Amino acid sequence: MDATKKLTVSSPNVKYTDEYILSDYEYEETLVTKTDTELVAKPHRTQLQIRTGRKVGKVGVMLVGWGGNNGSTFTAAVLANRHQLSWNTKNGKMDSNWFGSITQASTVRLGLDENGADVYTRMSQLLPMVHPDDLVIDGWDISPMNLADAMVRAKVIDYDLQQQLRKEMQAMKPRPAVYDPDFIAANQADRATNLIRGTRHEQYLQLRADIKDCRDRHRLDKVIVLWTANTERFCDVIPGVHDTADNLEKALRQNHKEISPSTIFALAAIDEGCCYINGSPQNTLVPGVCERAERAGVFVAGDDFKSGQTKLKSVLVDFLVSAGLKPTSIVSYNHLGNNDGKNLSAPAQFRSKEITKSNVVDDMVSSNALLYAAGEKPDHVVVIKYVPYVGDSKRAMDEYTSEILLHGTNTIVVHNTCEDSLLAVPLILDLVLLAELFSRVQFRTASESWSPMHPVMSTLAYLLKAPVVPAGAPVVNALFKQRAAIDNLMRACVGLQPISNMQLEHKVPFLMKELRSGALFKSAPPAKKQKLNHENGN
Ligand code: NAD
Repeated sequence: MDATKKLTVSSPNVKYTDEYILSDYEYEETLVTKTDTELVAKPHRTQLQIRTGRKVGKVGVMLVGWGGNNGSTFTAAVLANRHQLSWNTKNGKMDSNWFGSITQASTVRLGLDENGADVYTRMSQLLPMVHPDDLVIDGWDISPMNLADAMVRAKVIDYDLQQQLRKEMQAMKPRPAVYDPDFIAANQADRATNLIRGTRHEQYLQLRADIKDCRDRHRLDKVIVLWTANTERFCDVIPGVHDTADNLEKALRQNHKEISPSTIFALAAIDEGCCYINGSPQNTLVPGVCERAERAGVFVAGDDFKSGQTKLKSVLVDFLVSAGLKPTSIVSYNHLGNNDGKNLSAPAQFRSKEITKSNVVDDMVSSNALLYAAGEKPDHVVVIKYVPYVGDSKRAMDEYTSEILLHGTNTIVVHNTCEDSLLAVPLILDLVLLAELFSRVQFRTASESWSPMHPVMSTLAYLLKAPVVPAGAPVVNALFKQRAAIDNLMRACVGLQPISNMQLEHKVPFLMKELRSGALFKSAPPAKKQKLNHENGN
């Protein structure tokens, strides 16, 4: 199978050293100037050098909410794949896999072969990445339940697989966590018995000690902290408290009540030099947190895994608007019966989810001023109901109504039944692996010295419902734009141009002739050839 073959990039623009993959890359954007009547478009090229560290190192992921449905299912999935487990179900014997993970189970188009056929490679073959089997997992939970019992409680993993994982997961116990009943639903209070006591500053210090302990115990090169705990209510962003790194520090020491548990986790992670990823909707990444990350040169990313309904929405609305159809009403119902649904049945926590789900079509709507007047948007409503019986098997029902030719109407109705955690877990893996990878990528020009990407890592937007972006940057929600950004950035790191999908070798007669005669492949190798060989981890 081509997708799993070792990849060799042969290009004069790429150099391979023990430490780095170095790519000379011409980055092109089109600059547009506007007058009242005219748009003037001018290509602009920047000569970049991109280097990607080749040493992957030993990586740990610390999950906040480790004992939840996502946390226990993530742990089970890593172990099942690591041990290559098979298990029996009523449908026969099943093998472990990473379906749903773009790094493990999706391909990137590499180019074409001598026959003109597209050649694809597994995304993780493009650049050295952490292998999921090598991840060390640790974490915190307000519930003391060990991971084996948490897996049983979650009712996600097949029984036979649970039996095989039970012993190893029984030994895994979440560390005590930071809990503030003001931030998650009151209906969670009965599981909150595994707690770090003390002031917010004392709790912050304990979390830092936990990260250090995990790092030392497992001799880790890097730790990534990821929030997959309950959705918190939004904190009130108060000037003098959340607006700057210094004010946040002061407020933390003063035990300010509007500093949420997730903010304390984020601060501890950043100050330990760890990337922090927010998989839930709440506004943890307030300006003070982002400034702190910037100062520390640490990455943060969020908000809220984009797993099911929103993922589909960010495809469907992009399709409709780019086809010249005008979505006028989008109504989304969900019902789910897991603990996430129980927490979201409280109004303040539902409001956090509603906010992240609501803005996801804005960039697509504003991309087409031929359909929408300035400020005009489709009606967009989101409803979530808690129905215990359906457990983790979430139902999402969406109705998209669009105006079509001469004010006709087109209504699309989608019903999606999906196992919530089995969709979210591969996203957790990709967030960790891609955040780690992109933290090793740096850029420079002839006049600028090496610089990492901005600490607010918007490149992970594909995996997130409400991407947090650097101040002043546009938010992109459209799924395939987000995906193309990842693919093309990875290609750039190995000196390959973005995928244009033009396929002129199949459209322009003299190029078709060149391909079919074999002349194209004969003329391809450049004179000054550098060879780049890499596989996972080296
Ligand atoms: P869950 O309720 O099963 O798990 C959350 C865990 O967090 C629980 O074990 C709880 O005890 C723990 N917890 C709560 N507050 C904590 C704190 N302050 N510190 C440490 N632990 C704490 O929920 P889940 O289904 O695993 O989802 C986790 C989060 O991911 C939710 O916020 C959910 O909205 C978000 N999310 C899930 C999906 C998905 O599953 N498809 C998609 C997008 C977002």
